[in-house]
Amino acid sequence: MRVDASADRFLQIDHIERALANPRLREEWLADPQTLVVGGGSNILFVTERIGKVVGIKAADHGFVDEGETILAFAEAGLGLDDWVRLTTAQGLYGLERLAEIPGTVGAAPIQNVGAYGMQLCDVLDSVELWDRQKQVLLHWTAEQCQLSYRNSRFKSEPNRWLVLRVWVRLHKKPPADWPNFSYPGLADEADAYLMTKKSPMSALAASDMAEIVTRVRRKKLPDWRQLLPGSLGSFFHNPIVSLQHANKLKANWPDVPLYALDDPDSVKLSAGWLIEQAGWRGRIFGAAGVYDRHALVLINRGGADGKEILQLAEAIEADVWRHFAVQIKTEPMIV
Ligand SMILES: Cc1cc2nc3c(=O)[nH]c(=O)nc-3n(C[C@H](O)[C@H](O)[C@H](O)COP(=O)(O)OP(=O)(O)OC[C@H]3O[C@@H](n4cnc5c(N)ncnc54)[C@H](O)[C@@H]3O)c2cc1C
Repeated sequence: MRVDASADRFLQIDHIERALANPRLREEWLADPQTLVVGGGSNILFVTERIGKVVGIKAADHGFVDEGETILAFAEAGLGLDDWVRLTTAQGLYGLERLAEIPGTVGAAPIQNVGAYGMQLCDVLDSVELWDRQKQVLLHWTAEQCQLSYRNSRFKSEPNRWLVLRVWVRLHKKPPADWPNFSYPGLADEADAYLMTKKSPMSALAASDMAEIVTRVRRKKLPDWRQLLPGSLGSFFHNPIVSLQHANKLKANWPDVPLYALDDPDSVKLSAGWLIEQAGWRGRIFGAAGVYDRHALVLINRGGADGKEILQLAEAIEADVWRHFAVQIKTEPMIV
C-alpha cells in the first residue's frame, strides 16, 4: 500500500536450514509471537508505524521431481509467486498459469490460499514445509492439513505461529480436460486479441500463453504493483457469503445483483466489488487515499496516505454497504 512503517530490527533468512540450526534465531526471533513474518508486504496494511522484530525469507531456490504424467515442483518461500508461475509455465507445465501477475512471495501464497481467474492454490497444492514457531519443530503438511478454503487457511486462523519454508505443487505435463477454459469474464476477448497478434491458433495455446493472457487482463483492471504509485493491496474486501433467503431479497430489489452458487444450497456468494460500486464508491477520492476507478474492490494510496486513512476509508465503505444492502463485507489484508 506504500505506507511508511519501520521495523526496530529486521532479520533476513538467506538459507533456510542454516538459519533454523541457529538457536538464537529460533528462540529469540521465531519463538517470539510478536515477531512479524513479512513476504513482499502486498497483503499487509501497516497502521502502526513502528514494528518490533520483522523476519523475511530471501531463500528462493526451486526445483522439480518428475513423477511420470505429473511433476512435483517446489519453491522456497522467498521466490516471487509470479516468478514461479513464469518458471513453471516456461517448462510447459500446467497448473499455476492463472496465478500469473499476483504480487508477493511463494511463502505467503498458502496463507490466504491465493486465487485468481477461476483457480486457487489449493487446486494444485501438494504439501507445505513449515516451522512451528511455538513448538520449534519442522513439519511437512499435506494440502489437507493446511485446510485451505476461499482466501483462508489453518495458517491464517493461527497467526504468528507458522513460518512457511517451502511450497510443493503438483503440475501436469498435459493440459487439463477443459483446456483452455475462458469462462472467467474478460479472458475470452483477451485471448482472441493475443492469439491474433501472436498469429497462433487456439489449439497451440500453452500454459505460458494463458499466463500472458491473464497478465494482460489484470493489467487493465488492477494497479501495476511494480510501480511505486498508486499503492494498493489488490482486493481489499472478501466476497461475502449470505443466506439464500437474503440473496433472494437482494435480487428482488436489484435484479442485476450477481449471485454465485456454493456447495451449500442455503448460502450464496456475492461480489463485494459489485456492492461497493452500486453504493457509489468506485473512483471516489479521499485526500491521498481513494477507491480505484477501474475496480471498486481496490483501495489505493495516491501518495502520502497513511495506514489509518486507508483503514478509515475501508470502514466507511463497510458501513455504507451495510446501510444499502444489510451485507457485512470483511477486509482481506492483514492489518498490523
Ligand atoms: C495489485 C495486487 C493484486 C493482487 N491480486 C491478488 C489476487 O488476484 N489473488 C490473491 O489471492 N491475492 C492478491 N493480492 C494479494 C497478495 O498479493 C497476496 O495475498 C500474496 O500472497 C501476498 O504475498 P506477500 O509475500 O506480499 O505477503 P505479505 O503481504 O508479506 O504477507 C501476507 C501474510 O502472509 C504472512 N506471511 C508471509 N510470508 C510468510 C511465510 N513465509 N510464512 C508464514 N507467513 C508468511 C504474513 O505474516 C501476512 O500475514 C494482490 C495484491 C496486490 C497489491
